[in-house]
Amino acid sequence: MHLETERDPDGGWYDREIKLVDEDGAIREEFGKDPLLGELREAERRHGQRINLWQQGLVCHECSNQINDRFSTDQDGHLLCWDCATTVDHTERGSLRMGVDTTKSVLSQSKLFKKSLCDYVVNVATGCRHGCKFCYVPSTPAIDSRDEYLQSQAGVEDPQAEWGQYVLYRDDLPERVHQGLQKRPPETWETTDRGRGIVMLSSGTDCYQDRRAAQITRGVVDELTSAGASVRILTRSPNITRDFDLFQRAGDAVSIGTSIPSFDTALVKAIEPNAPPPQARWEVLDQAFRHDIRRFVSFSPTYPTMDRDDIREALNWFRAIDPEVVFHEPINPRGMNFELCVDALRDADFEAAASTFEELLDRETWVEYALEQIQMVRDVAAELGGPTIHTWPDRELIGSTSGETRERLVRMKNRVSDEEW
Ligand code: SF4
Ligand SMILES: [Zn+2]
Repeated sequence: MHLETERDPDGGWYDREIKLVDEDGAIREEFGKDPLLGELREAERRHGQRINLWQQGLVCHECSNQINDRFSTDQDGHLLCWDCATTVDHTERGSLRMGVDTTKSVLSQSKLFKKSLCDYVVNVATGCRHGCKFCYVPSTPAIDSRDEYLQSQAGVEDPQAEWGQYVLYRDDLPERVHQGLQKRPPETWETTDRGRGIVMLSSGTDCYQDRRAAQITRGVVDELTSAGASVRILTRSPNITRDFDLFQRAGDAVSIGTSIPSFDTALVKAIEPNAPPPQARWEVLDQAFRHDIRRFVSFSPTYPTMDRDDIREALNWFRAIDPEVVFHEPINPRGMNFELCVDALRDADFEAAASTFEELLDRETWVEYALEQIQMVRDVAAELGGPTIHTWPDRELIGSTSGETRERLVRMKNRVSDEEW
């Protein structure tokens, strides 16, 4: 299917009626003169086919030039050519600033094979509206080395302090992934034993955080799976359920997971202020279970306030959705992010929890907590007869141990996850 543009004889050259036409030339949908990107993406969803939006005769809402390659949208979803998209001022909705990310890269090689997650990542946006306090992303080069860029694209003054308040989208990523895959198909990728050539969405943002991100994600997953790639999706958002039709079509090529550090809704709310509650994330996996979609859990980062009963309760919830694997990692007190967690708990009047977190700043206390919690999660899972746990022992934690304990941790770290890829 493709778009056909028919010029309005009474209008300017850019006044064109946009129609979706199938292979036989039959009109399947009519969009009027100025369709929103969301309307076109919705049509792709309805017909289960992606329309390559480059060179389809679409025109820019701002300057009326034809869109021949890269594009984005304004805040209302009108299509913008690349020149307009990259010069238009960023927009604000409440405290959230939105803009366009002009990054050229499509797929990036990733070190996450060390966690047996993937070899490649695709980030559909820069910034993340969930604004989790422990998030390490703002301290990575993707954010930390781009102060001036974030300032110019979204008016960000302090990328770390304002984390959660800005998102720069990559609206034309599906088209670009399509093009990238033609040059470099999955057979030519560099893969590792632990990463297994999997592509993960997304490591630096939540790829289903809102509708605009979800639309990009759908297009990207469609392109990747059509090219034969394996895809892992990790999110905190129930928006992902809108794409179950796509995952069912992709079959074993897609596995989806949600991050559930704890089922203590109030604590999670304090630490992950804008993300949906843990129960809603569990329900995503429950729906995936019912739709026979591959699934995993990211039980990370678990809190020092959790005792054996809390862990048993969480693992029982996980057992109910029969995941292939539960990745587990205790919280890590490194860096400024951890202090933000403690402050957030205090601000929400969880004084006792804040103190328990704060105690982890003492290295010995942290090592003791992390080792104990890693073991507890594994023991409880063994007692219950599942789920399968894949532990992510921290590099520094391994470095703080010796002898048998250290060897065990190294073995855990080097494992390939128990998933069929
Ligand atoms: S959802 Fe993920 S990327 Fe977004 S703020 Fe939370 S941890 Fe960071
Ligand atoms: Zn334009």
